[in-house]
Amino acid sequence: MAIQTRNPVTGKVVRTFKAHTDTEIGAAIVRSYQAFLELRNWSFEKRAACMVRVSDILEGEAEALGRIATLEMGKTHGSAIAEVKKCAWVCRYYAEAAEAHLSDDHIETRASKAFRKYMPLGPVLAVMPWNYPFWQVFRFAAPALMAGNTGLLKHASNVPQCALAIEDIFKRAGFPDDAFRTLLISGSQVEKVLRHDLVKAATLTGSEPAGASVASICGSVIKPTLLELGGSDAFIVMPSADLDEAVKVGTTARTQNNGQSCIAAKRFIVHTDIYDKVKARLVEAFEALKIGDPMADDTDIGPLVNEAALKDLTAQVDMAVADGASVVTGAVAIDSEGYFFRPGIVENLPNGSPVYYQELFGPVALLFKVDDLDTAIDLANDSPFGLGAAIFTQDEDEKERAINRIEAGATFVNSMTSSDPRLPFGGIKRSGYGRELAAEGIRAFCNVKTVSIA
Ligand code: NAP
Repeated sequence: MAIQTRNPVTGKVVRTFKAHTDTEIGAAIVRSYQAFLELRNWSFEKRAACMVRVSDILEGEAEALGRIATLEMGKTHGSAIAEVKKCAWVCRYYAEAAEAHLSDDHIETRASKAFRKYMPLGPVLAVMPWNYPFWQVFRFAAPALMAGNTGLLKHASNVPQCALAIEDIFKRAGFPDDAFRTLLISGSQVEKVLRHDLVKAATLTGSEPAGASVASICGSVIKPTLLELGGSDAFIVMPSADLDEAVKVGTTARTQNNGQSCIAAKRFIVHTDIYDKVKARLVEAFEALKIGDPMADDTDIGPLVNEAALKDLTAQVDMAVADGASVVTGAVAIDSEGYFFRPGIVENLPNGSPVYYQELFGPVALLFKVDDLDTAIDLANDSPFGLGAAIFTQDEDEKERAINRIEAGATFVNSMTSSDPRLPFGGIKRSGYGRELAAEGIRAFCNVKTVSIA
């Protein structure tokens, strides 16, 4: 794929970048390793001082950085600024919490002293997607660098300006020059990087095929991986729920980031007693969304990222309808320049349709009617994915059952699934493995060394 900025509002290429050559990539990996030899000897205090400066730069430049994200992938400028500020938060969180998460952990044994020691591994390759072009990178980079690892970024080919801006921020903040490097490379150049002896691990956020490819290459050379893949999160609404809140939150959970979020609420599973009411209110909320220029303050929904995304989503809706589903509202491409799509709702999708098991990576809500919570949970689990899930109910027994039985990396009760630096984040089943954020995120790329002194 060409490495270039193409504005999804117009469909026009704005800027094209030359991919790094094999020689440049090899040199960057060696320099990343040399930076690791330096960074691993820095104190937590010294790393934290730089990470706080990263946080300050992000806060101070959120508006300008947000503009790059909006230009490259079409999210609303307001949400892009919020994303950059969330990155500032994760940097500050790890600047403060890294030492506690990685301090030696003493254990009583027959030895005079025994403890766990968390040690960095070296350069880690991060293969990242375009949908949260800053957040996905910083939630990896902040813990990785605070642990003493260095980062090599292979960002999605359509967000090179975001990728270069991130590299520049780490440099300006005072980290060693090569502690965080952007490699401008295509997916096909990733294998060489993974096989390089000095690259010690990889993390990938993105689609299943990309994840499977990276994991199998790493498997063949015995390198650890962490995968954050797709999702088709359930959003269960039971009769005792605050319906106004459920509809408001559900609308945001499905349509934020122009509907292109891994943890978006994708399958709305609604109890039969309130189904018609919830459906009518969701329709009203979806139809009220303002679609348009993502730089405008009053826009709720900008364009999808590219032409392929628009075509794929349209094809999925068409197949769902051919298989027996009905469109309640929207769910069509808008006939204009750029990649605009009208948010929509689809109901009665039978489980015989392939679409039933797919991820809809755009603003289309699937609506299902169920008679009781057990059926709702069975339906929620009838998916190859297991990223997040949400349930709206006031009933304590229903909350408990949902928490215990839903197969997902997270279950949120009476709120939408979201990420928070203090909470672990990740999936099960085909949504991936491993956890980012919190203590798990910073320990993910550490050698947990057992030390025993007789
Ligand atoms: P994608 O095609 O897999 O791209 C993600 C990254 O992988 C890009 O940098 C891409 O580079 C690279 N890539 C693609 N094929 C590769 C290969 N064979 N080997 C190595 N690298 C490869 O994903 P996408 O479709 O853009 O992103 C959307 C997907 O990401 C959705 O499924 C979404 O749910 C998932 N996602 C998951 C999370 C999570 O936290 N679980 C978060 C956000 C998104 P190029 O751009 O150069 O192809």
